[in-house]
Amino acid sequence: MQKLTISKDELICHKKYFYDNVVDKLNQMKEEYRDGTYISRKQRKFLSLCLYYKKQLAIGKPYQLRKIQQIIDKKYADIFEKDEKFKNAVEKAFGYDDFSSANLGCYLLEYVKKKSNVRQHASYDNKEILEKLYAELEKCDIELANEIRTKIEDLNTNITKKILEKIIGETLVVYIAEKDIPIDRLREWNPYIMQFHRKIRTCPYCNRQYITPIYSKTGKTRADLDHFYSKSRYPYFSMSIYNLVPSCKSCNSSLKGMKEFSFEDKTPYEISMDDSAEFRYWPSCKIEFFEKDKAIHAYKEVFKIEESYEFHRNDAKDLLRKSLRYSSDRIRELAEMGYISEKELYKFIIGKTSTKEKILEEPLNKFKRDIVKEIFGERILKMVEE
Ligand SMILES: [Zn+2]
Repeated sequence: MQKLTISKDELICHKKYFYDNVVDKLNQMKEEYRDGTYISRKQRKFLSLCLYYKKQLAIGKPYQLRKIQQIIDKKYADIFEKDEKFKNAVEKAFGYDDFSSANLGCYLLEYVKKKSNVRQHASYDNKEILEKLYAELEKCDIELANEIRTKIEDLNTNITKKILEKIIGETLVVYIAEKDIPIDRLREWNPYIMQFHRKIRTCPYCNRQYITPIYSKTGKTRADLDHFYSKSRYPYFSMSIYNLVPSCKSCNSSLKGMKEFSFEDKTPYEISMDDSAEFRYWPSCKIEFFEKDKAIHAYKEVFKIEESYEFHRNDAKDLLRKSLRYSSDRIRELAEMGYISEKELYKFIIGKTSTKEKILEEPLNKFKRDIVKEIFGERILKMVEE
């Protein structure tokens, strides 16, 4: 509903993660002996192309991804044809499943272990690993590092990787959500960090469901990351940050499912769904999501926007009823009595209405703004929005 943006800090974190994890695996794959056969010359060249464009594949904007796709279409259109194994290996090397399922803290712990002078099999209670961990955390926030140090020192049980991940994860998300710590200085990157840092509250596709993450001792949940360009068809874009759209489960799994957007469609990082269409309501007619820009058509169809919003027609009906009951003359009369201003009266009648910039903060904000604008007019919308 609103154009999504990615912060510079996120781009730094994602690039670091991609270079640490994906690039190595692609290099390994180039050389690897696979099921008794070496990969073909063409496959090797394809991997070299991916490595050449590693920065764009990690943090390239949608137009850069499209350019890469044009090259692939020209030279490697058949690269996965008749070789499902190669395709699966590429998907595995890009490692989206590892990125999305890894515990918070896992990447950081592996990094500090690698950087410490300890044997590969050293256990995580090793003093050198722990000191390296605190040093890494301090680069980001001293208070955070001290809190984690205290929690680890207070442990009455064996220090294992699992326990450390739990402590790091639970402490870190609080600092990211409440204190805006500089995540780019941290050697940890994970979909939870992305979502706690971005603070998007509702699904950008439907604006009907909350997608706020929870990470606690007793359970965790976060928004799905929808691959705008399908992960199975374009495995090389599976870790591209501009191809990952935090969205609700119903939009990602149930509605979008296997349906695919094409390279002509604009991603939510390029198009403002708010500016491209508006809700319209007329009694006894269905709710309409009027397209002002054709680019929004695919979204409207895939996410069944009109069908979903039909459930909210009573909210629109209620606003219409109020507008008929409290005409502008009536409001003016009441305001002239001097007890309450016109603005306060409208706010009281219409209720909380968000500004354009805050559409994703609460469900149905876009719908409410459009209906208020349609029924009461733009002047009143400007008066009540906050
Ligand atoms: Zn949704």
